[in-house]
Amino acid sequence: MAEDTDEVRTVILTVDDDPAVSRAVARDLRRHYGEDYRVVRAESGASALEALRVLKLRGASVAVILADYRMPQMNGIEFLEAALDLFPAARRVLLTAYADTNAAIDAINVVDLDHYLLKPWEPPEEKLYPVVDDLLETWRADDGHAVDVTKVVGHRWSARSSQIREFLARNQVPYRWYSSEEPEGGRLLVAAGQDGLRLPLVVTPDGTALVEPAERDLAAHVGLSTTPAADFYDLVIVGGGPAGLAAAVYGASEGLRTVLVEREATGGQAGQSSRIENYLGFPDGVSGAQLTDRARRQATRFGAELLTACRVTGLEVKGAARTLRFSDGSAVSAHTVILATGVSYRQLDVPGAAGLTGRGVYYGSALTEAAACQGQEVYIVGGANSAGQAAMFLSRSARKVTLLVRAPELASSMSYYLLQRVEDASTITVLTDTVVEAAHGKEHLDGLTLRNSVTGRSETVDAQWMYVFIGAAPLTDWLDDAVLRNPRGFVLTGPDLTTDGRPPADWPLDRAPYHLETNVPGVFAAGDVRAESAKRVASAVGEGAMAVMLAHRYLEQS
Ligand SMILES: Cc1cc2nc3c(=O)[nH]c(=O)nc-3n(C[C@H](O)[C@H](O)[C@H](O)COP(=O)(O)OP(=O)(O)OC[C@H]3O[C@@H](n4cnc5c(N)ncnc54)[C@H](O)[C@@H]3O)c2cc1C
Repeated sequence: MAEDTDEVRTVILTVDDDPAVSRAVARDLRRHYGEDYRVVRAESGASALEALRVLKLRGASVAVILADYRMPQMNGIEFLEAALDLFPAARRVLLTAYADTNAAIDAINVVDLDHYLLKPWEPPEEKLYPVVDDLLETWRADDGHAVDVTKVVGHRWSARSSQIREFLARNQVPYRWYSSEEPEGGRLLVAAGQDGLRLPLVVTPDGTALVEPAERDLAAHVGLSTTPAADFYDLVIVGGGPAGLAAAVYGASEGLRTVLVEREATGGQAGQSSRIENYLGFPDGVSGAQLTDRARRQATRFGAELLTACRVTGLEVKGAARTLRFSDGSAVSAHTVILATGVSYRQLDVPGAAGLTGRGVYYGSALTEAAACQGQEVYIVGGANSAGQAAMFLSRSARKVTLLVRAPELASSMSYYLLQRVEDASTITVLTDTVVEAAHGKEHLDGLTLRNSVTGRSETVDAQWMYVFIGAAPLTDWLDDAVLRNPRGFVLTGPDLTTDGRPPADWPLDRAPYHLETNVPGVFAAGDVRAESAKRVASAVGEGAMAVMLAHRYLEQS
């Protein structure tokens, strides 16, 4: 093993049996990460494992492991599998030749590979560093190894604690979670002068203690922008899902003064997906969190302003200005607006469910709560892809996952590839023709009444965890009659506004509304919130980009 001398820093480890290659990879890594990380290199799987054992005993953290695939005695996949036992949180990269791509794809399943890099990795600025940067970022966000991260002290069954964790996770704010019942949680409560009756307690890296903070307050304390820097913009985007983020990237990169306003956390529905497999350019899938993180960074790099925890509650049109009102009474105006507010989970309307939300009943927060379900039995309600993805994700840690599906079969609602995986997973059971009749529990969920709609028979089962994915609806009531919507609340645009080729009665211009334009010139809709949209990540991204192009066209003519 060859290594740097510094004892304490977090480690990036690389192993390759070709000494020249091993040295070259380590050299490139040191050049870029040497200041912040200790780069350790080895020339065989066995010596790399020995290095990892020593690091473990010394209490070091390992963030990223890069292993060559073709090594004698122990190949890269076998090595990474063994390394998992020592440092399960380390991000894993396989270095392969083009001919071994299939082996790398297999490794995704065997060792939950995060990435494979085709050799040669030159130039590293393009092929190596962006990958390792991403992995380091997600490693930091997931595991909170750094001591100076935000700390959350809460209770497993506190709905507010669950919401705050979800908020931080979805905004990619690294945090460490402590139960109020564990010694360190108790110590933090004492230090903050709290008796633990009001939870969660959030301690920010600079030592500020916040008790049951509101999202907006918390956002401001952890470095997220919550108020616009200017009064007037070329473009305001409402909603930070894929459509809104794409619009922010294109708007800002094409020179528009752009601000994006998001009520919770950027990423939208896609940000809650454990693995998006059908998005172009990601043959091995990409997690919603990764996609969001990249999009955020891309938008910010081009100069877009991203506001979080900032809910838009009204749209007013005065002459050429379009003004958006926020829930705190403040406002921002712009020449153009893109509505990209997507859809939100439909709530399960059965007795008992509402009161147990966040206390065993969850809507789309499978990723944040997954660790707590380790070794337990989990129920998932729904038969579409989102439910299937959650089932696959949770089946990695839960003892048993039961999918409750109202329809007689899954094939009509779930993509074929996902259906196959769900059916092949030994820990997943699918109950079709089954509906939830009631949720039971006082402090937290402890049972469910399930009814078989064919036999009419009901039974009550023990249940502590239920995740609900039963479709979604647009939350567009705040738009009132500012723009035209269909009876289900989806925003009408372009051709859907015209009757026999004629624009709506109040349309003020000679031209017809552009394809994604609402009945208010200069106000566009993109993504899931738009009537007749495709409800896919790729189409939302495409519409976000296209809406910016149409905004330009509108600006040129006005
Ligand atoms: C669990 C899950 C898995 C999925 N998997 C896939 C997949 O594998 N492949 C695929 O193609 N599609 C998938 N989808 C669908 C895909 O995520 C959506 O089609 C896509 O996210 C739509 O993007 P959007 O930007 O239009 O809206 P959304 O993603 O819904 O984002 C809208 C954003 O607007 C914000 N917002 C709403 N109202 C306001 C307001 N008043 N003020 C400020 N902000 C507001 C919301 O908080 C939200 O962040 C999945 C969906 C889910 C839920």
